[in-house]
Amino acid sequence: MTVPTFADARTALQQHETSCTALVSSFLDAIHARNEALNAFVAVHDENALAQAQAVDVALAEGTDLPLAGMVMGLKDVLCVKGEQVACASRILQGFESLFDATAIRRLRDAGAVFVGTTNCDEFAMGSSNENSVYGPARNPANLDYVTGGSSGGSAAAVAAGLCHTSLGSDTGGSVRQPAAFCGTVGLKPTYGRVSRYGLVAYASSCDVIGPFGHTVSDVADVLQVIAGHDPSDATSANVPVPNYRAALSESVAGLKIGLPDEYFGDGLDADIRAAIDEQVKRLEAAGASVQRVSLPHTSYGIATYYIITTAEASSNLARYDGIRYGYRADLATIRNDLATERRTLQEGIAEADAHGNALVAEALEKQLAQQDSVLRRLYTDTRTQGFGAEVKRRIMLGTYVLSSGYYDAYYAKAQRVRRLIKQDYDRAFAQVDVLITPATPTPAFKIGSIVDDPLTMYLNDIYTVTANLAGVPGLVVPIGTHPAGLPMGLQLLGPHFGEERLLTVGQQVMQG
Ligand code: GLN
Repeated sequence: MTVPTFADARTALQQHETSCTALVSSFLDAIHARNEALNAFVAVHDENALAQAQAVDVALAEGTDLPLAGMVMGLKDVLCVKGEQVACASRILQGFESLFDATAIRRLRDAGAVFVGTTNCDEFAMGSSNENSVYGPARNPANLDYVTGGSSGGSAAAVAAGLCHTSLGSDTGGSVRQPAAFCGTVGLKPTYGRVSRYGLVAYASSCDVIGPFGHTVSDVADVLQVIAGHDPSDATSANVPVPNYRAALSESVAGLKIGLPDEYFGDGLDADIRAAIDEQVKRLEAAGASVQRVSLPHTSYGIATYYIITTAEASSNLARYDGIRYGYRADLATIRNDLATERRTLQEGIAEADAHGNALVAEALEKQLAQQDSVLRRLYTDTRTQGFGAEVKRRIMLGTYVLSSGYYDAYYAKAQRVRRLIKQDYDRAFAQVDVLITPATPTPAFKIGSIVDDPLTMYLNDIYTVTANLAGVPGLVVPIGTHPAGLPMGLQLLGPHFGEERLLTVGQQVMQG
């Protein structure tokens, strides 16, 4: 399948062979024809997109320079777009409309990109398969019975299927890179702090980062160029100059030092993925890069550390969904009714116990009556019970547990110390080599429904992606062909903080062969 790239669209636009409006219309047609099967978009904004496209055409006619004119994008349902619903694929945020644009969105809009719709994902970005979504799973364009990966599954599938040029996802533990690998697209997780998080709904704030998907490294570099940079609205955004990412694409890999971490090539890695990576490493060597083995000795603690730190942060971040301020609210009349019925039942029980002279029972029931929930308390409980899905509840409970006073030192504080060791592993590796090459995932995509009831197996799949978030380093996934099972495979490049340029250079070389 040949898929449309932004680079082609830009050329066609510059040569007046098309207009932004025509480009957007043709993508909208493709979405309406194919999205029902893929479930990649959960909302399509035809009117807004066409209005945005017309404005871009007018601006171009007036001679305005818009670096992303002609780019058609999908946006993950965790990014705030003014006037549009952002629901994080959750029941609890149904009906919530953002009052402002995320900084990344504002920058893209100002650069001429057009947003055609909202893409599917796991609820609050928690998951590795896009199956934890109130909208149902997105489907892998390579085989509709298989998952897209997650959590940014819809963003990956939309790009892979040619329903938009590029899309944005978010990556807290692999949510851009793993679906990119499963769907066969390019996916970038920038350095923590490289892209403003303002307007990205928080999952685990110390790991969250917005990242782009595209068909080519060049399209992804163009998005990064616009969204990267300091933002006073996000105190964790880095005040580090933004280089020219496009220039990195034509750099040579000759003389670059590439490291292969031993811990990423052990048991559990699919043999065909391994062979495909070996093949790419040989080609990079032939192009003049040198290759050596390195060690990231704390890798095996990555999953445990990640699932302690991120659930702790999630339990705090998600406390704000209480049914008072945002989105879904449990039905108040039902709550009042339920409480009245409970009260009556207790009062009747007390009267009966008194009549039988059963003082102990009467006392116990009196106590229950005195402790009955207030309407407000029941509103919180019911809203959250009904509004959150099973995985989100599991993580809120895990996170609350690891932060509770008796267990804080054993879990949360210890995980923070291990996080430091994981970061030091990377520091040491990047003192020896420029870039690391690893698999993105241990296996290709799995069947929808096959491990959804087994959270531990699902978590273990994140082994190659979570440590980059714990350390804050950037990661780029590029497609490296098709597995004998007929599904895409991906290769991951990891670099030091703010080392995106090198990743783009090597990624470009891998894709151009
Ligand atoms: N799959 C990981 C998880 O379930 C990563 C999610 C993410 O990066 N948002 O948490």
